[in-house]
Amino acid sequence: MNQKERIEQLFETGILPRKEMRALIEERDEESSEELFAKARIRKKENFGKDIYLRGLIEFSSYCRNDCFYCGLRRSNTKAQRYHLSKEDILTCARQGYALGFRTIVLQSGEDLSYSDEEIADIVRSIKKEMPETAVTLSIGEKTYEQYLLYYKAGADRYLLRHETADPVHYAKLHPSDLSFENRKRCLYDLKKIGYQVGAGMMVEAPFQTLDNLVEDLFFLKELQPHMIGMGPFIAHKDTPFKDMPSGGSELTIFLLGILRLMFPKVLLPATTALGTIDPYGREKGIMAGANVIMPNLSPKSVRGKYMLYDGKISTGEEAAESIEKIRKRMEAIGCHVKNVRGDAPGMGPENRQ
Ligand code: SAH
Ligand code: SF4
Repeated sequence: MNQKERIEQLFETGILPRKEMRALIEERDEESSEELFAKARIRKKENFGKDIYLRGLIEFSSYCRNDCFYCGLRRSNTKAQRYHLSKEDILTCARQGYALGFRTIVLQSGEDLSYSDEEIADIVRSIKKEMPETAVTLSIGEKTYEQYLLYYKAGADRYLLRHETADPVHYAKLHPSDLSFENRKRCLYDLKKIGYQVGAGMMVEAPFQTLDNLVEDLFFLKELQPHMIGMGPFIAHKDTPFKDMPSGGSELTIFLLGILRLMFPKVLLPATTALGTIDPYGREKGIMAGANVIMPNLSPKSVRGKYMLYDGKISTGEEAAESIEKIRKRMEAIGCHVKNVRGDAPGMGPENRQ
């Protein structure tokens, strides 16, 4: 098959044989990228029109018990600045987001065990009680089925937990031995079973990642059928074991966003902060390649510089929630429209909750 045929088949059927998928990525060039993105925009338009959904991201704690080799919040990073927000601080951020038009709040943190499960549930419950039209997404790491169920019963709607890499051998090169792909996968299937809208995903150009790894990631996602896919470039952090590893670029990430849109026409696909960090127009390029979600930062300004997953993370400019008008204008400039709605995965709105 040539590139044109591969893209056509992916567009029509949502899948390609592994070998062809690999070749599609490997042989990408300007022409095939444009072709892919044009098809991705067709699928996006069919499912979402011009709409772009916003998620207000509250990074509520920079403490983490884990030691992922790539991440600036890893517990061995003694230089990391640690903070955690109180329930009142979190509610204040959520209210500000609500006033700005956000109808999804994402609560993200390291795996900080100083919050009890009941405290997390209470925070979720309080947001839902005060702002019932708001969807709450959690992104707080690996937990047991019972813990996930407790948060869900408290009102949490969605959960983001990237699978990071679907190859257990590659997984072991990115994480210490107490973390495994097997448990990550167990978490994702538990979350789906409970009824969450689930987000998985991976870093692009992570250390030791091969093209075959990426193809494996795509096929793992096909099997999991997540409602959301978070995917951004790896960016090195100076105080981690991967400090000298090259960071990813925007080009491959954007190409993969196009592939994901054709594989998953209805999926919620953010143009991530990491993409906006390595490329000033990364978000726009991601949207033009099929992404339909943006996640501006709603954390208090005083802590934003402390939630450093990777070097150079943008946190005070136009990606910030208070610059929402600029974000809206930038989206209008590329023919899109930011909508103040929850933006659920199709068929997964509040009326469908179990
Ligand atoms: N502790 C939670 C949520 C916070 S980390 C968890 O790990 O799921 C959120 C995401 O940030 C991770 O899933 C990872 O893919 C991404 N991340 C961490 N370090 C990164 C880096 N150096 N470059 C790019 N993305 C990174
Ligand atoms: Fe902790 Fe998440 Fe960073 Fe891993 S990626 S060290 S779990 S914050």
